[in-house]
Amino acid sequence: PAEAGLEALQHADVAARLPLPGAASDKYRRGVVGIAAGSARYPGAAVLAVSGALRGGAGAVRYVGPAGDAVIARFPETLVSDGGPARAGRVQAWVVGPGAGDDASAVAEVLAADVPVLVDADGLRLADRAAVRARTAPTLMTPHAGEAAALLGVPRETVEASRLSSARELARRYGATVLLKGATTLVADADGGPVRVNPTGTAWLATAGSGDVLSGLAGSLLAAGLSPLDAGSVAAYLHGLAGRFAADGAPAGAHDVAEALPEAWRDVR
Ligand code: AMP
Ligand code: MG
Repeated sequence: PAEAGLEALQHADVAARLPLPGAASDKYRRGVVGIAAGSARYPGAAVLAVSGALRGGAGAVRYVGPAGDAVIARFPETLVSDGGPARAGRVQAWVVGPGAGDDASAVAEVLAADVPVLVDADGLRLADRAAVRARTAPTLMTPHAGEAAALLGVPRETVEASRLSSARELARRYGATVLLKGATTLVADADGGPVRVNPTGTAWLATAGSGDVLSGLAGSLLAAGLSPLDAGSVAAYLHGLAGRFAADGAPAGAHDVAEALPEAWRDVR
């Protein structure tokens, strides 16, 4: 039997949760996901987060930040907005943080939005805990073990040795859903309910930019209307499968993982 409180994610569970457009759907009903990511130093993180978001089921991807030119050059379908997140047009869920450097105002503006928010990478460091706790719309945090350790104020080894309780504790402290990345990714809600375990990961995913693709993908699923627990666990499942398809016994870059996401969807459906 599975460890108490753990729920292994099954193919059929994921299939049942994939957001599929109805015949009368339009791009707004499918959801607009906003990506506040990238910096002059790390423009590629923005491109990778958008690449994941475009393959996550939202009807449109809006980008705000300093990497708009790089994003548009690669993905012309992206809606690029000037100014910070607070001035962007309609967005049904935000992703903030990948490669964001020290842009604390973008993080604060996103946290103030009354829509679901995914906080990753630099955003985790910059997010004010009280501001996260004060949110009424759902929050999904996606740390790897090192980021989780910094948030909990413990050594990384402590998190590695107690991943389940670390994810639960972080979720409780922030009043947020926590997706703890790693060889087996866990997704924990703040209410202490069953924690989802993703079985599809592959060590080939341990490559630069891989987490940025995951954050865009999960944000897109949030914009499409999934709960943070479902968005996080479905994203981890598809991302793991895409890693297997992209790598297939040989190394692949994070952009290859993003390009394999449609194959992962078709495999699950
Ligand atoms: P990041 O550290 O933000 O770049 O994210 C890395 C991504 O790769 C996450 O989705 C992790 O779950 C995944 N990952 C890293 N190492 C492994 C591993 N050894 N086995 C499976 N997945 C991994
Ligand atoms: Mg990362």
